[in-house]
Amino acid sequence: MSDDIRSSLGLRPVINVSGTMTSLGASIVVPEAIAAMSSILPQFVEVNDLQRKASAIIARLTGGEAGFVTASCSAGISLAVAGAITGNDLLAIEKLPDVNTEKNEVLVQMGHVVSYGAPVDQAIRIAGGKVVYVGQATSTHRFHMENAITEKTAAAVFVVSHHVVDYGLLNLKEFVEIAHDKGVPVIVDAASEYDLRLFLEQGADIALYSGHKFLGGPTSGIVAGKKDLVRSAYLQNMGIGRGMKVGKESIFGVMAALEAWETRDHSSIRERETGYLNLWKQALDGRPGVTALIEPDPTNNPLDRMRVIINAEEAHITAWDLSDALARGSPPIIVRDHEVEHRYFYLDPCNLHPGQEKIVAQRLGEELDKARASNEIIATPLESRSKHRFDGALRWPD
Ligand SMILES: *Cc1c(COP(=O)(O)O)cnc(C)c1O
Repeated sequence: MSDDIRSSLGLRPVINVSGTMTSLGASIVVPEAIAAMSSILPQFVEVNDLQRKASAIIARLTGGEAGFVTASCSAGISLAVAGAITGNDLLAIEKLPDVNTEKNEVLVQMGHVVSYGAPVDQAIRIAGGKVVYVGQATSTHRFHMENAITEKTAAAVFVVSHHVVDYGLLNLKEFVEIAHDKGVPVIVDAASEYDLRLFLEQGADIALYSGHKFLGGPTSGIVAGKKDLVRSAYLQNMGIGRGMKVGKESIFGVMAALEAWETRDHSSIRERETGYLNLWKQALDGRPGVTALIEPDPTNNPLDRMRVIINAEEAHITAWDLSDALARGSPPIIVRDHEVEHRYFYLDPCNLHPGQEKIVAQRLGEELDKARASNEIIATPLESRSKHRFDGALRWPD
């Protein structure tokens, strides 16, 4: 890699094989969005008019009636919930998170209450929503949801994510059917999904996306759907949305990223990623204690990842110690290790600059060779890893 801004800032030149991680800067912003942002930064605009233009593009790409850009998908959850609670009542909007209505209950299936870096249910609560958990972690039946809906129900939130429990729950179509039967709007958190139309097509009233994940836009969130609900969410900019606002550059950057998405050559990107996965498979196959499997994305995004399963007795290193060694190394390589207690991590090819795939293959080989050459098995107890997980954060900024 050529020298980049990171070295002059004294930052480590991380290679991201973990996916679209906010903590690593989310994604490679597409050139169209970068150009759009720098072109609008020196100009004054009437932001509501710019958001009207964004609304038209969001509507075209999502099939919704309207849309707007906010700070993040997480902000989108809060704004959409707030809108469902307050409607267009400007005084109620100013009073949030205090609510002057009984109608502030928000349903969410227990198996959807996950953390995307912060808890889903907190995004609902800061908007004045009272969270009603539906069903149990691994089972929601129709009767759970039907009985949870009362005259106090303002909205129902459905989360699409590899983090949610993936069996035993209501699917979106059933969830929508039950909610709509009783006039309850459905808000879908689709932060990380490629398909911009599917969830609205399946009946969601609002679908929320991150602008900075697969779209390759600036850090932002996209709210799309029914016009009246989108408007009520947008009006929250005069209330709790103020601290979640985006500037002209992010609004215009997302517009450009959406238009670039329409013309992106998705199949050649897929082909390139498949090439990376095959290279890594070659580098890992036949190594003692290592199994490399190419697997599809759990939420059906058109993306494969490599699951690297480590048998510590044979590889002489645990999956988590290998992950840590790669992250400590030079250049630092950050793998997708949120399930590493199961003795595997993933390599995600979607955020690599060409050439980095070779460095990843080489570093994997080096660390595995080093481990095999060691007489002892490199095995930090998992408990100690979990115990020290937040040490760095709690020392910040040192
Ligand atoms: C990433 C993610 C979020 C948060 O998105 P931001 O735009 O970073 O706030 C919310 N929900 C899900 C399912 C996510 O994957």
